[in-house]
This record gives sequence, C-alpha cells and structure tokens, in this order.
Amino acid sequence: MIARTAILALLSVTVAVTGCNSSQISAGSSSSPSASLASSPSPSSSPSASAENSCNAPKSPPSTWPAEAVAALEAMTERYMKRCATTADFELYFSLPEGLTTTQEALTKKWYSDALTAATRVFGDLLQSTKPIAVFYKTSAASMCTELVAFLEQESAAPDVIDGVKRYEWSCKPNADWTGVYSRAGYGATILEAKSPKYDYLILNMGNGDELRSKDPYAALNPTFQTPSHELFHLAQFTNQSQAATLWWGEGGAAYIGHLTAAMQGMVSYKEARDQGLVTYSCEEIARNGKSGPPRIAELSGWWESADGKWWNGMVYSLGALASEYVIGTYGWDAFYTWASGYQTQRGLSDYAYLDQRSQQTFGISLDDLHKNIDKYLERVLPC
Ligand SMILES: [Zn+2]
Repeated sequence: MIARTAILALLSVTVAVTGCNSSQISAGSSSSPSASLASSPSPSSSPSASAENSCNAPKSPPSTWPAEAVAALEAMTERYMKRCATTADFELYFSLPEGLTTTQEALTKKWYSDALTAATRVFGDLLQSTKPIAVFYKTSAASMCTELVAFLEQESAAPDVIDGVKRYEWSCKPNADWTGVYSRAGYGATILEAKSPKYDYLILNMGNGDELRSKDPYAALNPTFQTPSHELFHLAQFTNQSQAATLWWGEGGAAYIGHLTAAMQGMVSYKEARDQGLVTYSCEEIARNGKSGPPRIAELSGWWESADGKWWNGMVYSLGALASEYVIGTYGWDAFYTWASGYQTQRGLSDYAYLDQRSQQTFGISLDDLHKNIDKYLERVLPC
C-alpha cells in the first residue's frame, strides 16, 4: 500500500515523515485544482477559543466500558480541562485547493483549527516548536507535489528535506499510484523537521474532496476527523525521539488521540468513535480475514516494514488505539507517553532490548508481560 511504502522510504532518510490513514470511504471524483502558491498559504486567524468547542469534556463513558477505557478517558479529560483555559493556540498557515467556496474554505480551516486546538490542550506542552504549523490540505497529487516543493523552497527549508519530498512516491515520484490515497480521505503525513526559518512542522493531508463538497460537511468529514490531531501527536512523538518505537504505540497512540480529541472538539461522539471506529471495525477486519481473534500485540511491536503482507495490517490503528487505551488507563498518560522516549537515539541496542528495559523502568513489568496484558485486554473488549 502506498502509505506503507512511503513511510518505509521516508524513515530511512533524514526527512522524517510519517504517513497515516484512517478508515476507508468511497472514492469521489478527483478534480485537479492547481492552486498557485502566490495566493496560498494564507495566514489564518489564530484559532479562537470559541465557546462552542473549547473546554467541553466528552460525555460520561457508558457503563458497558471496561474500567481501563473509563480511566483512560477520565485521565485525558482531566488533563484537557486543566490546560484548556490557559493553553495558547498554535498559529496555522493554510495551503488549500484552489476554487473552494467561502464556506468550504471556512470549514476546512475550522476543522484543522478545532482539531489542533483540542490536541494542543491535551499534549501541546510536549511540542517544542514555537513556530507556526503549516497545513497542506490537497485533493490532487500534482498540487501536493508542486506546491509543497515550491513552498519549501520559498521558505528556505533544508535541501535534504526538499530532495526527500521530490524523490518519494507519496509526494512527487512520477507515475505514483495515488488511487488508493484518493479513496482514503484520511490519508495524512507530517514533515517533522522542515528546518525552515519560519516552520518546523508541516501537516499534509490528502482528501478526495467529498468532504468539501458535501452539504453536511462535518458528517462527511467523519472518516477523516482524526487526521489533524493524529498528525500532531506524531510531532509530539518526534519531539521525544520515539516516533518509530512500535506500531501499536506509534500509530495506535496517534489514533487514540485523534479519536478522542475529535470528540473534544465536538465533531463526533467519543462513544461512537471508539465503539464503531475501534471495536466494531477490528471485529469486521478479523471476520473479513477469516480469523477467530486479533493478532498478538507483540506482532505489532516492529515498525511498518514488519506489517508488510500481514493479514492484520489494516488493524494497526484500531488495535493500537485500544492497546494505548489500556496502557493509559492502567498506568496513566505520562507513563504511556514517556516509556519509549529516546528510542531513536538508542538504536545501537536491539530495538526490543531498549523497549523492554524502558518498560521495566516505566511500568514495572517486562515488555513481554505488558504485551500479554494487552492481549488479554483485547480479548475482553472485542466481542468477536
Ligand atoms: Zn499516523
């Protein structure tokens, strides 16, 4: 799959980029607007602390949820509410497709602003950049490539970053097969270290345009609601040198945050997001593959290359998010976030040895035991 190949390629060079996708929706017609850089990116007004979406905690969890799920939600909600009033918003710059109506443009900016505001209040203290975040939301591969390169050149990003963007198939490679990306509106990626004087972080998002053409745009955004805050969490992971630690933590943690903060911004009910997007979806994938249960979570302890060709590779996000929920609910957010820190700088050790050592230090148990406990949790929460 394109996202996977892209991640592989990009993680092996200095341009640290991470790709993501959320659940699939049907493909729409893909127009090819070619926005000119002259008119974009345009600075948006900073996301305002509007009354309708700030400082609203998700509704109480249903009584059917396991204690760990409730504890995780409560821990994150408490953190969010505590930081809500005082956390400064990131300044955002947008580059959007040309030809959007005023309503479509406002919607897209609100989507990102709300999502990133909610996520910033949950964990924005972990990001170290004070520079604005640039948001590239595109509906054609050609404009993603040409505008991104032009933007990076204009903003004096590091040459190795620009070369990486030009070279790899997620952005500019000739004959890249983008059909899979267009059918998957939640595809996002992040340039973690643009090394430009003005921007360190760029969040990239490919959509198929359905969400912008819909009469009920927030409903149409449903498959993609988690992408902005999901990508922001990858920036936080990059900050603590843990980006590629394990799939269940790297992508699952981002998916957990993406679903939860979408609920905090009021886009979706968290009950619906969790119970449908994580639990029901996982069971559907298990059934679709003719299996009787999920893979052992230890199988998701490598990075993307370890998922190639595996039957469970469509469940990385949903199972990883439930695993993250278990760890946050059992050990708290701080332990969850810090256990894999320093992973990238410690790769002289075998990956497993480092994570096992950190697991014992942080959780008081071996990585094997942590994985076994997660497996038991998955068996408990998946009704299949
Ligand atoms: Zn991701």
